[in-house]
Amino acid sequence: MSFWDRIKPSTPTATATDARLSSDGSRLELTWDDGAKSTATAQALRQHCPCAGCVDEWTNQRTLDTTQVPANLQVKQVHPVGNYALTFAFSDGHTTGIYPWKLLRELTQPIN
Ligand SMILES: [Zn+2]
Repeated sequence: MSFWDRIKPSTPTATATDARLSSDGSRLELTWDDGAKSTATAQALRQHCPCAGCVDEWTNQRTLDTTQVPANLQVKQVHPVGNYALTFAFSDGHTTGIYPWKLLRELTQPIN
């Protein structure tokens, strides 16, 4: 059980207030409105892409072959979607995933 699982569901969904990419684009670092910081690799974000091209909308089965996502994948750009999500432009050309805060909080690992 992860840290984030333990604090759910009594904690309302946190909102990221800052998103930074490492200089080589291989890692995303988020700062949250509750003061937490967390990080994930571009590879992990891409492997968990929630878009219709990566997950079957009806069965919820992941159709993306996550073993085909290279470890050296980069995030080229980060864009906010309203105030509820981020989208990423990955170095493999994939741009269609919308990552709500809740998903990002689950995908990223806390930084102590
Ligand atoms: Zn996708």
